[in-house]
Amino acid sequence: MNIIIERLNKIKSNIKNDKINIIAVSKTFPLETIRPLVDAGHIHFGENKVQEAETKWGNLRKNNNNLKLHMIGKLQSNKAKKAVEIFDYIHSVDNKKLADILSKVESNSGKKLKYFIQVNVGGEKQKSGIQPNELDDFYTYCVKNLNLNVIGLMAIPPNDKTVENHFKYLYETNASLGLKDLSMGMSADYLLALKYNPTYLRIGSLIFGSRS
Ligand SMILES: *Cc1c(COP(=O)(O)O)cnc(C)c1O
Repeated sequence: MNIIIERLNKIKSNIKNDKINIIAVSKTFPLETIRPLVDAGHIHFGENKVQEAETKWGNLRKNNNNLKLHMIGKLQSNKAKKAVEIFDYIHSVDNKKLADILSKVESNSGKKLKYFIQVNVGGEKQKSGIQPNELDDFYTYCVKNLNLNVIGLMAIPPNDKTVENHFKYLYETNASLGLKDLSMGMSADYLLALKYNPTYLRIGSLIFGSRS
């Protein structure tokens, strides 16, 4: 069997709950590496650059109606229009300017996406995400003022021993907002994330190998 399918199956065998979706994060990998998963019927794929996603997935999507594409990387406002065309989910909504534009593009195009609000749970300068103390206001703004379909929270916690506390915070905060979906858990920490009810795991290197 193809090694990539084997690795995905191994991850699946660790997950007992069928509400949990695995997003195969295919950024930087060429289509010929990814294609066996598509042919095997895998549905969710993640990319972090609009241009790369368009080049790689444009044709494949036309022939595979079931595919769902997730934008998991930082989204510049000037790429928002293209992103709404290409993706089904955006995990990185974290500022009003971006949210305003996404809302406008949706009204013009008639297409509705599913959104996660990214939270900078570790307060790390180099990472994106809304600060936890601004989350309530930002969430209300996105949902009430802009009518964005926010389905949950997303975070990339610091890769250290605080990670479990951050998963717990995200799980509790998500529930307190009444949100049903939760995007957390990557190759290094998805087993720990599983303790706090994620619905979308974002897993790259454990499936495709390390990125050079
Ligand atoms: C690259 C990336 C992932 C996947 O990371 P791995 O460690 O390779 O599993 C998950 N989430 C985001 C936001 C990423 O940019």
